[in-house]
Amino acid sequence: MIEIDDSGVDTPILTKDDIVRLEEPYDLPERIRCAIVSCRQPHKRGYFALLRDGTLSRIGHDCGKRLLGEHNFVLMRRDLDKRRARARREQYIRSPDFDPGGALASLAPWDERVEMINQFIRDLGQLDANMLAKMQDAVKWHHGELEYWDTRNRQLTRIQIQRGKVLELPSGPIDKEIGWQADFVSAKTRILKIIECLEKDEHTDDELKLLMSQIGEAQWKLRMTAEMLDEFDAFCGSITTKQIMSIFFQGVKLPRTLGPVDRTPINKLDPGP
Ligand SMILES: [Zn+2]
Repeated sequence: MIEIDDSGVDTPILTKDDIVRLEEPYDLPERIRCAIVSCRQPHKRGYFALLRDGTLSRIGHDCGKRLLGEHNFVLMRRDLDKRRARARREQYIRSPDFDPGGALASLAPWDERVEMINQFIRDLGQLDANMLAKMQDAVKWHHGELEYWDTRNRQLTRIQIQRGKVLELPSGPIDKEIGWQADFVSAKTRILKIIECLEKDEHTDDELKLLMSQIGEAQWKLRMTAEMLDEFDAFCGSITTKQIMSIFFQGVKLPRTLGPVDRTPINKLDPGP
């Protein structure tokens, strides 16, 4: 039988009151001598324990349970499990590449743009429920004419669009509005869930790992959202320069352009290797 060098964690333990808490379990191929004075036998399994004087010592699994009493032992085990689980979660938090709180904060400016698109789509719907589809048809077929029922003025309105000055509608932001907004919301929800998971004790490692594995999906959703926001921005930039659009959009507040979307939040979601 080999006995490993156990100097340094061999403070003698006289009574159960010497033990503050369990630190780490050990399970070794070699036996190490127990520090409980009344035991002093070599054990393969046990725990390193923090003592009142601040030093570390160790107890065997079975004799430790006898010394502490079944009830105390279970409580200390439970406390150890909780601390170890928390430490594992904190490893994720401390990852230099993954900062869910920071990501959420950097997404705040995106909210304004998302709301801008929502407002624009709602306003267009007030003019004519099918306005978006009609505008896209007019562009698609290049017939240079757009007809719609103007609910404000209660009349059928026909607009000639000069060829070459037809507004260029992107394929993205206005015909997929429901899909990408859902993506944006679900990406944010994932980050919130991870923050909640990191802060609370009741989540299991499996749940945390599942959430972490969904980060890639959240990134993809945010990437889609960023593209939509950029496309919409380009769309707003093009329509504001066209006089004809002022006829379309009387009563509709034209969204202002905000420049390229800051993609930092996407990078901040990267949990690293
Ligand atoms: Zn022992």
